[in-house]
Amino acid sequence: MKKLLCMLLLACLALTGCAAESADTGGDELTAVFLDVGKADAILLYNGEMAALIDAGENDDGDAVVEAIRARGIERLDLMIITHFDKDHVGGADKVLEQIEVARVLEPGYEKDSKQVRQYREALAAAGVEAEALTENVEFTLGGCGFAIDVANADDYGSDEENDFSLVTRLTHGGVRFLFAGDAENARLAELLDEGDLDSDVLKVPHHGRYERLSAAFFAAVSPQYAVVASSQDDLEDAETVYALQAAGAQVLLTRNGAVEIVSDGESARLARP
Ligand SMILES: [Zn+2]
Repeated sequence: MKKLLCMLLLACLALTGCAAESADTGGDELTAVFLDVGKADAILLYNGEMAALIDAGENDDGDAVVEAIRARGIERLDLMIITHFDKDHVGGADKVLEQIEVARVLEPGYEKDSKQVRQYREALAAAGVEAEALTENVEFTLGGCGFAIDVANADDYGSDEENDFSLVTRLTHGGVRFLFAGDAENARLAELLDEGDLDSDVLKVPHHGRYERLSAAFFAAVSPQYAVVASSQDDLEDAETVYALQAAGAQVLLTRNGAVEIVSDGESARLARP
């Protein structure tokens, strides 16, 4: 009996040891701020060890994005991810690069010529930063967070294909998972569903809440606790998207009602600013 108890105790210790290891977050909370920049994306992620930005809003949002970063005492970004080159994602990136030191920039592996992209390229050159154009998936750890960035599988998605070229980021903080789905549309959602591993606590809802044929299946696979939609008062998210997210059990948060702040302690996510 004593031997059995001893073995049980050892088994318990082994289990808790494992749990502590997998929840190693550098002992720090992670904050995700979904900025209220209208129908555009700008998401700041930070803890005591790192700061990262996913997209930078429209051209006119650049200064507000910089202000939001500085307001949190952040003077340097370890990482900036440009999901794709539409103006509501890359637009403010030049302002960020001009005013904040950015160590690493990741962008999708396709070319686009537009005023916003030219300004972004000029700002990269002026800052002496070479963006890495991703053509295959990458994974790395930064400040106790696991980043897994997923690139599009196809080279061609027909018209309006840039959205489907979006870099999709899975962020793991201890046991808490975030999924940032860029502007992925139906064809890309099909790929993501195929690849699996979507289950997440927090979802940045793709494409400003546009409803797609596979949206409901995608939301069910992610089954997020919180779903954040970057829409604007002038260009609302689709009502079907909100219903489908709620049906998947998510609390839906709209940046058109103000910035959304979600904090992870590595075990669970909570809303910091409803
Ligand atoms: Zn967009």
